[in-house]
Amino acid sequence: MKIVMLGAPGAGKGTIASRLSVKYGIPHISTGDIFRANIKNGTELGKKAKFYMDQGLLVPDELTCDLVMDRISQDDCKKGFILDGFPRTIPQAEALTDALDEKDEQMDYALNVILSDDKIVKRMSGRRTCPKCGAVYHIVTLPPKKEGICDKCGSALVQRADDSEETVKKRLEVYHEQTEPLIEYYHRAGIIVEVSGDAGADQEVDRLSEVLEDEE
Ligand code: AMP
Repeated sequence: MKIVMLGAPGAGKGTIASRLSVKYGIPHISTGDIFRANIKNGTELGKKAKFYMDQGLLVPDELTCDLVMDRISQDDCKKGFILDGFPRTIPQAEALTDALDEKDEQMDYALNVILSDDKIVKRMSGRRTCPKCGAVYHIVTLPPKKEGICDKCGSALVQRADDSEETVKKRLEVYHEQTEPLIEYYHRAGIIVEVSGDAGADQEVDRLSEVLEDEE
């Protein structure tokens, strides 16, 4: 099963994608995570990507598309995969469609995770992450036991540069302009399924399992 996650940054795509990945035994491919790993490892790609990410802008398509095409051609993607954060522009979606067409394949579902901009700003600007173990907290909804300290490894928590309120607003602007048209693109392909970013992730994943399995 090949799934694409749509929806604004911070709507909850990652949580739903990682649960579906476990449920269906298919890899969860997050372009944001790939870029962040490259930044951490100091690669050339990481240096280039960071310049755009820190400003809330999209990394150019030419740095993004090949990376994803290469990743989905690996062996662990034979049974399917979940793309989280890609495509983010119409040219990226077209590159994906073309690459799959060549193999006589297509995406099965595009899950559109819906949450209002106001809620996204509150959710993302309160997010704190552990730079060492990757644990994620929220100052209001999921605070660590000791303020500013990771429960799991004791490191000082940080706010991702792209989670500051100003950058989140920029990312939402970029989303509405460049990524939202993908909803129409996948509507035309007839594979959109709507998901609430507000309901609990477990509840949405249970509901989705029925929809996805029913159509298989
Ligand atoms: P995310 O964790 O998915 O919100 O991604 C974080 C940042 O990585 C985005 O704000 C972009 O700067 C960059 N990024 C991730 N995926 C893409 C993509 N498909 N195209 C361009 N930039 C991306």
